[in-house]
Amino acid sequence: MKKRILLLAGGQSGEHEVSLMSARSVLSALPRDQFDVTPVVISKQGRWLPPTETQRALESGEAPTGGDLVLHRAASAEGYDAVFPLLHGPMGEDGTVQGLLTLAGIPFVGSGVLGSAVSMDKVMTKQVLASAGIPQVAWALAVRREWQTQPDTVRERAAALGYPLFVKPANLGSSVGISKVARPEDLDGAMTLAFSLDRRVILEAMTAHKPREVEVGILGNDAPIASPVGELRFDADFYDYETKYTEGRASMHIPAPLSAEVAEQIRTLALRAFRALDCAGLARVDFFYVEETGELLLNEVNTMPGFTTTSMYPKLFEAAGLNYSALVTRLVELALEDR
Ligand code: ADP
Ligand code: MG
Ligand code: MG
Repeated sequence: MKKRILLLAGGQSGEHEVSLMSARSVLSALPRDQFDVTPVVISKQGRWLPPTETQRALESGEAPTGGDLVLHRAASAEGYDAVFPLLHGPMGEDGTVQGLLTLAGIPFVGSGVLGSAVSMDKVMTKQVLASAGIPQVAWALAVRREWQTQPDTVRERAAALGYPLFVKPANLGSSVGISKVARPEDLDGAMTLAFSLDRRVILEAMTAHKPREVEVGILGNDAPIASPVGELRFDADFYDYETKYTEGRASMHIPAPLSAEVAEQIRTLALRAFRALDCAGLARVDFFYVEETGELLLNEVNTMPGFTTTSMYPKLFEAAGLNYSALVTRLVELALEDR
């Protein structure tokens, strides 16, 4: 019997369009002799679109308004064997949709509520990884109300980290709302931007030198495997939104030119992080490698990484001998696995 798969795409975050691109790739890659796939696009307003509107959104890359409330449509997800929540960012990758699917009793691809929620939040991720002894940059948390009522205590925290530093909303992706702050005078603007997007903001020390950015894919549930290591190169001060999504601004190098020893260290740390965060199915673990000092610092864990045929995660496993179609099939198998 063919498995019935519900593919969720779009969603309410700033990564809506990225998700639609990934979904088009997954839709054409899931083998039709094994799977019967129904896509449902979630609009930016959080409504689940009926089939014709979903089709139109997938083709045009733009979600129309309208659609049904989440809870109403979730009930109709009941007839499916598994759901592939191909959603990035808040309200999709952060445990919310995973909670809904858990309540509905439907298996789904990727991490559960805990792993999704903790990995989405850059502060919680850092706390969990620190207790697992995984090296990271120095950081501090600031909450909106604190910034409004006692900004000087937050400024002191920033000064202790030293400039330049990075200011980021705790729960976002695609570099949205992230600033590199060169001087104390520029802190206010960066904080205002970050707090307009999240109640919690993370301040991060910058690595001592501009780091190399290396990434590794993890695949599996309780016996996960690591892909070869890949590297991103770009011509910009940091990997910001524009650099990420402008064609030709960044290049991928697989395998990353690294010593076998450093590559193995990256893979080992990534597997430890995946377990510490209780991730499942898949994750892309991103590191900073400071060549001058030999430091290897874990930057973040993405539980639903970009998933077009040319995205880093599928390319990493392709280098390991698993093509795109075999990879998505494996992810559905992992969702259906007894754990
Ligand atoms: P996102 O989840 O939006 O991708 P990241 O934490 O990965 O956010 O930050 C985006 C980019 O900003 C990174 O890929 C890197 O280029 C740069 N960056 C972020 N934090 C630091 C840091 N502490 N030191 C140096 N570069 C950083
Ligand atoms: Mg991210
Ligand atoms: Mg990132």
